[in-house]
Amino acid sequence: MTKIATPSIPTAPDTPVEQIHDTFEKQLVHQYTMRRTTAKQRIARLQQLHDTIYRRRPEIERAIYADFRKSKTETDISEVGVSLGEIRHTIKHLKTWMRTQSVGTPLTLFGSSSEIMQEPKGVCLIISPWNFPFNLSFAPLVSALAAGNCVIVKPSEYTPNSSAVIKSILEECFAPEEVFVAEGGVSVSQALLELPFNHIFFTGSPAVGKIVMAAAAKHLTSVTLELGGKSPVVIDPSAGLDHAAAQTAWLKSMNAGQICIAPDYIMVHESVKDAFIAKMAAKLETFYGKDAAARQASPDLCRLVNARHFARVKSLLDDAVAKGATIAYGGFCDEADLFIETTLLVNVPENAEIWQEEVFGPLLPIRTWTELDEVTEYINARPKPLAMYLFSHRNRVIEHVLTNTRNGGVTVNDCGPHFYNCELPFGGSNNSGIGKCHGIYGFQEFSNARSVLRQTRLMPTSRFMLPPYGGKLAEILLKGIVRWF
Ligand code: NAD
Repeated sequence: MTKIATPSIPTAPDTPVEQIHDTFEKQLVHQYTMRRTTAKQRIARLQQLHDTIYRRRPEIERAIYADFRKSKTETDISEVGVSLGEIRHTIKHLKTWMRTQSVGTPLTLFGSSSEIMQEPKGVCLIISPWNFPFNLSFAPLVSALAAGNCVIVKPSEYTPNSSAVIKSILEECFAPEEVFVAEGGVSVSQALLELPFNHIFFTGSPAVGKIVMAAAAKHLTSVTLELGGKSPVVIDPSAGLDHAAAQTAWLKSMNAGQICIAPDYIMVHESVKDAFIAKMAAKLETFYGKDAAARQASPDLCRLVNARHFARVKSLLDDAVAKGATIAYGGFCDEADLFIETTLLVNVPENAEIWQEEVFGPLLPIRTWTELDEVTEYINARPKPLAMYLFSHRNRVIEHVLTNTRNGGVTVNDCGPHFYNCELPFGGSNNSGIGKCHGIYGFQEFSNARSVLRQTRLMPTSRFMLPPYGGKLAEILLKGIVRWF
């Protein structure tokens, strides 16, 4: 397996712009063939994708290890398993989702029938980030294909090995007029954003999300924006502290904290702060090793993706400490190895950078509260987070926090699983995102709910509305419309 030797920034090669334009033109033509595909045909394609991903799992594991040394088990759970789960769920339900739905018709349209058809949007663009290069490329792709679209996928340039395997797998399964992978960085992304796609599904930072939305506005292209944010963990004194510490330590350390739904900061009740920190420290030692050297050698901890991200996270740590924060646990960083251990910070001053931007790394600042309103007021004074984790055994507390805050999604008494349930819509709200993905929500995101009203050929009521206005029956009908319908 390739080992990261120097903190340089490897990037994927740029797909030539002419090839992108040529493929886009082909997809514009091919979209009508895709539109006509049946549930059976779409399911066959998805099954082929499923089997190919499963068969080529070892390549995926090697690629992602080469990109940022993620363990095989974590790749199986968070990349391969999640992608295959999304495919199986879609295969199971696609026929129902695609079914044209009959809806009621008011008496004023007597004799007609109404229905909603799910039609594909057409030619779609998926731009993905580097932190889960497979899952965040394949999951939206599955929804787009289920809905009957042609797709161009642009994986992140910062995980070049993963990008190459994504390209190779999709080339094995699809013709370029169906699915095409455009590799490369910002310039490739910008060239793609010039094109009049029918839908853009973007996963990445809020800052780039704004660029994507502005580009989409030029063509009035609809967007799904899966963004990030500062996701809090709230610990009530009634919580099972051992469980809360284990789940928080795990999700914050997975992917080295480079997860959109990672715990960004902790809000723990003052009375259990010390006990919670002690338990977090104990969990981190049990999971990853007794000292910093052991933790760095742990095969279960991956690396920061590149030198730029290492420097960004390290500067958040240095800034907090320089402004007076205390490292309650961890703090070890090795630039040559792009390693930062999971680090707990307390007494972090309000002006520290770590309170202003999404951490997206293994640092966890901790603040305390005594009254529940301090929790909701703090969360509500900031942009809506993508995720929130609430540990409490008191229903009153749980309902109070749920009712008095807003954000994309919540897990009560755990960290992360609301992401894994395909029956739940996943996404943010405002600064953390627009639109939803997973399961039927992803399918609907890539579909146009087209309304079809079939008028009766016998005596359509609309005939009575034609001018010149008047006549007894029209008057009665009009009265009826105004009064009752
Ligand atoms: P990013 O926004 O820097 O990049 C995402 C994609 O956008 C990449 O493919 C990149 O090539 C492209 N891009 C970058 N700059 C661009 C520009 N100026 N114009 C056009 N395209 C551009 O994000 P990232 O660093 O890859 O990922 C980290 C961010 O993604 C975090 O904020 C994280 O919270 C968020 N994220 C969200 C989700 C989610 O599901 N909501 C999942 C993973 C990551």
